Amino acid sequence: MAMISIFSHTAAEFAEAHTILHGKGKLHALQLYRQFMKKGIWEESDPMFKNAGHLFEKISNSTDRELLSVSSLLEEGDTVKLILSTPDGFLIESVVIPMQHGKTLCVSSQVGCRMGCTFCETGRMGLLRNLEPSEIVRQVYHAHIHLGHAINNIVFMGMGEPFDNYDSVMKAIDILTDQNGLAFGMGNITVSTSGKLEAVYRLAEDQARGINLAISLNAVQSDLRSKLMPHNRKEGLDAIYKAIFNYNQKKNREVLVGYVLMKGINDSLEHAQSLVEFLQGLRIKVNLIPYNPQRNDRFKRPEEIAIERFSNHLQAAGLKVLYRKTKGTSIMAACGQLGGKKQPSDLSKEN
Ligand code: SF4
Repeated sequence: MAMISIFSHTAAEFAEAHTILHGKGKLHALQLYRQFMKKGIWEESDPMFKNAGHLFEKISNSTDRELLSVSSLLEEGDTVKLILSTPDGFLIESVVIPMQHGKTLCVSSQVGCRMGCTFCETGRMGLLRNLEPSEIVRQVYHAHIHLGHAINNIVFMGMGEPFDNYDSVMKAIDILTDQNGLAFGMGNITVSTSGKLEAVYRLAEDQARGINLAISLNAVQSDLRSKLMPHNRKEGLDAIYKAIFNYNQKKNREVLVGYVLMKGINDSLEHAQSLVEFLQGLRIKVNLIPYNPQRNDRFKRPEEIAIERFSNHLQAAGLKVLYRKTKGTSIMAACGQLGGKKQPSDLSKEN
């Protein structure tokens, strides 16, 4: 029998697919979707199944509701790192991060990433493959429902460049925000890009998806940004400025500008002043993220005093600044710095 993946569909699509497959059962499928996605319950307890046990069986036997298997679950300070394994053997990471107002889940959109940012663990892996919408939804479902973390916000800042997998990310967002399912608010979801600007323009035209946009900037000196983020050679700072400006106008929303502070690289007062000048005329909030040192890393986290000096300079110039000292938030640096786990291909190279 054809299997219908619950994690690949909105409630309406799921109910429709079962109706086509079985010739009936739309409301029954909808009810099962609702209780499974909201509470993790898959059973025929609802009165509508009283004389419809056969339908319950048919829908159950043709629904794939398998979670991804857990490769490891790590607690680091106040964060929880969830490493899931895909059926073809890749590892994907998501991180539960406690914030002032509830928990944020940082999810991955790809296995690896092709953008090659030099400070990023995921970038060093290269792109292994895109994640399917269901694999993105499963990360959220696992943390939120299966482990009961009661997630408030979702940020696409894990492994991968979300706009390099645009359609799957948008499909996952439609499933995550379905009122008959997980029911996250569009405003509780943030997608972070390293600067894939065609997608920024595309999202600016998408009035149905009121998600938050973050752009990882990290430097406003062209040479320095190209060293940190090689994609800057294709889509540079002028183009980024125009794309943010257009987004502000079209969506009437501010953009979160990510700035990973790296000691001795981009953390001086001169860098802060250049950032202030670059951002003039844009509706933005700056998200300052001290670098999270990795294995054998040549990049370092600045001293606390340097971070504060940088932050104070931006605020004195009238910029809104987000800087959370909470332990663990540095894990969420830009759209990367996850992905330090070995993938099967790495292991085979060593053997
Ligand atoms: S920072 Fe983001 S875009 Fe850059 S390599 Fe890492 S995951 Fe990819």
